[in-house]
Amino acid sequence: MEQVKLTYDKLQDEVTELRIQLEEANEPIHAIRTGQIDALVVNGENGHQIYALKTTDQTYRVFIEKMNEGAVTLNREGIILYSNSRFSTMIGVPLEKVVGAEFNKFISPDFKEKASTLIANGWEEDCKEEITLVSADGRTVPCLLSCNALELDEGVALSLILTDLTIQKETEKQLQVKNEELEAAHLATEKLNDELEDTVKERTSELLISREHFRLLANNIPQMTWTSLPNGESNFYNQQWYDYTGLDLLNEKAFTFKDIVHPDDQALTTEKYEAALRSGEVFEVENRYRKGADGSYRWHLNRAIPLRDEAGNIILWVGTATDIEEQKQQLQKKDEFIGIASHELKTPLTSLKGYLQLLVSYKRDILPPPVKTYIDKANQVANKLQRLVNDLLDVSKIQAGRLEYKLERLDISDLLAGCVENARHIYPDFRFDSEIQAGLFASGNAERLEQVVMNLINNAVKYSLDNKHVIIKTEQRPGYLRVLVADFGIGMTKKEIERIFERFYRVEDKKFMASGLGMGLYISTEIINAHNGKIGVESEPGKGSTFYFDLPV
Ligand code: ADP
Repeated sequence: MEQVKLTYDKLQDEVTELRIQLEEANEPIHAIRTGQIDALVVNGENGHQIYALKTTDQTYRVFIEKMNEGAVTLNREGIILYSNSRFSTMIGVPLEKVVGAEFNKFISPDFKEKASTLIANGWEEDCKEEITLVSADGRTVPCLLSCNALELDEGVALSLILTDLTIQKETEKQLQVKNEELEAAHLATEKLNDELEDTVKERTSELLISREHFRLLANNIPQMTWTSLPNGESNFYNQQWYDYTGLDLLNEKAFTFKDIVHPDDQALTTEKYEAALRSGEVFEVENRYRKGADGSYRWHLNRAIPLRDEAGNIILWVGTATDIEEQKQQLQKKDEFIGIASHELKTPLTSLKGYLQLLVSYKRDILPPPVKTYIDKANQVANKLQRLVNDLLDVSKIQAGRLEYKLERLDISDLLAGCVENARHIYPDFRFDSEIQAGLFASGNAERLEQVVMNLINNAVKYSLDNKHVIIKTEQRPGYLRVLVADFGIGMTKKEIERIFERFYRVEDKKFMASGLGMGLYISTEIINAHNGKIGVESEPGKGSTFYFDLPV
């Protein structure tokens, strides 16, 4: 027990002794750090050495202590004479273990040689280089190491300033990554740009080719062509157009259809053009264009079709104007010929019919039956011929604008009943159903309206096959009355319907050929128009047709 007490006391004394020594050691360190003393005693190989700074400015030492960089002073042997606390923090070693230690100890193995060379060089001249420290816990700390030789009283010492580059390095690394990313993005953009440029070049050349193609085509067809925007504003005319009209788009910016279309054709042209713009359907009109060279007019057939985008919106109207003056003149000559010929035919035909009439009435009773039959047949043929000649005369009168007749108040119910009666007489093997309301009155010309009704009935008979059934009926509607003639015959397609009211138009059906000249519906349309009415048809191929006309009441 006594022994233990002795050992304990001894140990206690040793601890006290060590604490005093530590305090003694700490004192100068603290004194240096706070600038209270200017010299230091270091226990080296050649015994104790005293190091003192030539300038003993306390302010500088405090400054060094507080600064962000590590500051270290070395002797020739590479022993650390002084270190600020920042350096000790950088390497994670307590300050008391740093002072007196070999500086090389804190350099990372890869940089030991570089640091030694730098330090050796530092004694001769100021220099700096990047090196890496290694901390107590094995962390590497990249630093910029600057060396400056300092003159001390006892000789020269080497001052080292170590700037921690960890953050810079990190930033540099991030910057590099970003730079690399940027470079990659740049390359990708460049590639894209190149591709885009190629595509643009390709498209431009395609566009050029297609534009040149269009221009070449447009300028080398005999027709005048033009294009216009969906609002109707023209944006292109071909050379023929300028040559013909004598107008110059550059010098005469504001011109319209009115400047070149014959005054009598302007209303129809405008009406049809506006209707086409509204409906988006094909524009077609015949009109006369003024020739710039001599001011004369020539007939043209105008057609324009809309060009649509993928969504079906109209992006452009493409129009042509074809010179049809020659055809018009031919047609006029033909009309004149028809007019003269039918007129010339009319007189002998009338006398022929008169003589036939005389033959029938003259001693009819004594005529042998075959002769009677021949006379009846001749009469029928003469009637047919007369109808044809009358139609031809009507057409030429319509063309000349001379189909004139008086309108009076008519009992339409009566008129229709007469027509049905007549039809039953002419076509005994047909069934005619009439649903005619009584007491229908309208203003009209009896002879001409009869002509229309009989034409519709004749057609119904002519274009029926096995179903020999025709219905004639009337409907009263607000402001007008409608007369309908329905059959169950061959019917028509929509395309055919569009044209049957034109002059001399006939549906060319190879399976079904009926005689006719395509004048009946044309004449009927003219007659109904002159009555301020309207003519139309509803039909389906193979099912039959229902023709109708409306008369205002
Ligand atoms: P045409 O009968 O002398 O040929 P139209 O002017 O009367 O002349 O008729 C024109 C065309 O319309 C006819 O050729 C025929 O193709 C068609 N058409 C007229 N009526 C009918 C009908 N009821 N059914 C079918 N097609 C008809």
